[in-house]
Amino acid sequence: DIKKVNDSYFGSYSSFGIHRDMISDKIRTDAYRQALLKNPSLLNGAVVMDVGCGTGILSLFAAQAGASRVISVEASEKMATVATQIAKDNGLWRSKTDSEGNKSCTGVIEVVNRMVEDLDKSIQIQPHSVDILVSEWMGYCLLYESMLSSVLFARDRWLKPGGAILPDAATIFVAGFGKGGTSLPFWENVYGFNMSYIGKEVVEGAAKFPIVDIINHHDLVTNAAVLQSFDLATMKPDEVDFTGTAELEAKNDTSDHEATACYGVVLWFETGFTSRFCKEMPIVLSTSPYTPKTHWSQTILTFREPISVASSKFTAEGSAAVGTDACPASKILLRISIARATQHRCIDISLETAGV
Ligand code: SAH
Repeated sequence: DIKKVNDSYFGSYSSFGIHRDMISDKIRTDAYRQALLKNPSLLNGAVVMDVGCGTGILSLFAAQAGASRVISVEASEKMATVATQIAKDNGLWRSKTDSEGNKSCTGVIEVVNRMVEDLDKSIQIQPHSVDILVSEWMGYCLLYESMLSSVLFARDRWLKPGGAILPDAATIFVAGFGKGGTSLPFWENVYGFNMSYIGKEVVEGAAKFPIVDIINHHDLVTNAAVLQSFDLATMKPDEVDFTGTAELEAKNDTSDHEATACYGVVLWFETGFTSRFCKEMPIVLSTSPYTPKTHWSQTILTFREPISVASSKFTAEGSAAVGTDACPASKILLRISIARATQHRCIDISLETAGV
């Protein structure tokens, strides 16, 4: 049931290791830091809500950037306690009691231990009066964890009309990988012995589940295409579940005459702090195989059978099925659906392919 799933989900965020991993991901944390600190006209004097504050790191950046009030919402009781203490230790807690017991306001941060969906009576703020909503909600393959729905809920309840949401854009990309992206080459030559029997089994097994791992961009054999884009400021909550299509062609650098086998596709995402809100310094946070790696790695979907693709100049002869070695495809058509699973906090990914 949902309560059990939530308890174990928020429980997992109570251990410090996971927060250390996120904070040590410099690509991730610096993207938020820059977006918050390098856009003073947005942050100065703003009322900010941090959805899922964890240690409070984004709230601390917002306070440092000159926010007038930061409401830091965290469902994990442990992390809410920790974030409160950290804000105090850094002189950024909102109400401070001096040695005579007098309360005074010094800092700007207030931590609320609630799910953002249940915030209503716990804070003194009117609906639709937050200037900036900031959150690091992204999971593997962007949508794993389904936290985006909570951010959209907060947007619709608390954000001012025209208020900023950071990040405000998210895009999922897809590209095809070749043999080098599988474990086949490893098993083909083990101290000179052929163990490809194992490699084949590993690849067959991989076709059953998405795998989170790093892909080297040298192993990509097609162009990268956009699978889906989200505008966080305007998207409807039910648009979190989607079916996207993409066309992949053999990369230009593959020879005109030779076909290359595509073993599967890799998914990754970028989130943008675009110039719509971050006028002074827009930022892109990328988890692409072409940019330095992040703790999200990439998500790998392996085909049941490799599809042979050739660059468009290649003309096939004979009547073999398209996408086989005898008749390479000029394009791979993909249809990928991602939906929140009935088993809450997970996603279902389905993949259909055709070579044409
Ligand atoms: N903002 C922190 C932590 C990000 S991890 C950082 O950038 O390092 C996401 C955090 O959101 C977790 O601590 C999790 O417990 C919290 N969270 C997830 N869904 C939530 C919800 N619906 N309401 C409140 N907190 C939530």
